[in-house]
Amino acid sequence: MALLITPDCISCGACVPECPNEAIFENRGDAEAKGYHVGEDQGDYVIVHDRCTECVGHFDEPQCAAVCPVDNCCIADPAYPETVAVLLAKATLLNPEKVIDPSKVWKDVRDS
Ligand code: SF4
Ligand code: SF4
Repeated sequence: MALLITPDCISCGACVPECPNEAIFENRGDAEAKGYHVGEDQGDYVIVHDRCTECVGHFDEPQCAAVCPVDNCCIADPAYPETVAVLLAKATLLNPEKVIDPSKVWKDVRDS
């Protein structure tokens, strides 16, 4: 279902504009104010699992991890594995105005 941001985050902000689902927030308070639940293990910047599709439907790899200057800072959240079908459905629901491409799937999707 989602990636998370580890406490190694240096709050550079590079990931925020790259997310196709607006799933990244500058802090927990901003996310929770919009009604999203944030797990306990994240850094200052957070990813909300309600909106993260692991970039499935949009890109071949998670864009937050691709642009992040810190190694292993944006990683798969073990609490939220989802199938490709579920992630594509979520991408469609979140982005009714965008074309969702079912061929855009990264190698580490956790089909379970
Ligand atoms: S994996 Fe993609 S959808 Fe999820 S937070 Fe990162 S950029 Fe956004
Ligand atoms: S790109 Fe990486 S270091 Fe920068 S805010 Fe995002 S998660 Fe943190």
